[in-house]
Amino acid sequence: DHIIQVEDLHYRYKDGTEALRGLSLFIERGRKVALLGPNGAGKSTLLLHFNGIYLPQRGRVYVAGREVTAETEYWVRSRVGLVFQDPDDQVFSSTVEEDVAFGPRNLGLAPAEIEERVRAALDAVGMQAYRHKPPYHLSYGQKKRVAIAGVLAMVPEIIVMDEPMAYLDPAGQAGVRTILDELHRQGKTLIVATHDVDFAASWAEVIIILKEGRVLAYGGPELLLDEN
Ligand code: ADP
Ligand code: ADP
Repeated sequence: DHIIQVEDLHYRYKDGTEALRGLSLFIERGRKVALLGPNGAGKSTLLLHFNGIYLPQRGRVYVAGREVTAETEYWVRSRVGLVFQDPDDQVFSSTVEEDVAFGPRNLGLAPAEIEERVRAALDAVGMQAYRHKPPYHLSYGQKKRVAIAGVLAMVPEIIVMDEPMAYLDPAGQAGVRTILDELHRQGKTLIVATHDVDFAASWAEVIIILKEGRVLAYGGPELLLDEN
């Protein structure tokens, strides 16, 4: 059951940079997937295709069997939650609870449902005690957890994270890892772009290595032992 399928995906930025050059892969439902590759390999560009922020210029992306197009973009965004590398790109409301409520409110959900989603999302990331605080008072790691809560409040089936461990201290990293483990237990599909080979080797079930806009290698964590 391929929850994500990418076929011959190409993406070229306006300045002519060919970020993706015929990339194909598939991801099975419920897997913990690490996307690795050097800077500029195309990881971030690919992640932005998974939730329809970018639409394929050439090739196809399927999410849960539906092709990602301008028509399905909105649906795709509700199935795939994207956590950016920098929480300051994602966390902007005046209080933590407002921030987490933003997405559900945009969906036009009833107030009781919004409240329940905010509570559940803040519980999941251990930030309930901070719900009335302004995000700018929080540490980087706490902001990251609020950004994750904002995504969880949308109840996505697939969660995509760009460098979730970057700039976190060991306690912050352990916190994110606990959240990821719990989401995996709930059956979510998790896709994480990372530079952190140790994290990828110890966490992921599936490793996909990108290079120059294509898949260089695909396999289990043992792939990384071969590499080193
Ligand atoms: P084809 O049918 O064109 O030979 P495959 O379906 O075998 O293509 O693989 C498509 C792409 O998926 C390839 O680019 C390959 O790198 C990658 N790939 C290989 N094995 C796997 C796998 N087990 N899961 C996901 N992607 C894979
Ligand atoms: P990664 O996440 O693996 O570092 P990216 O997807 O960010 O890779 O980048 C892939 C390629 O696209 C790189 O050559 C990068 O410089 C280029 N690129 C990324 N974003 C832009 C942009 N907005 N405009 C032009 N080129 C870009």
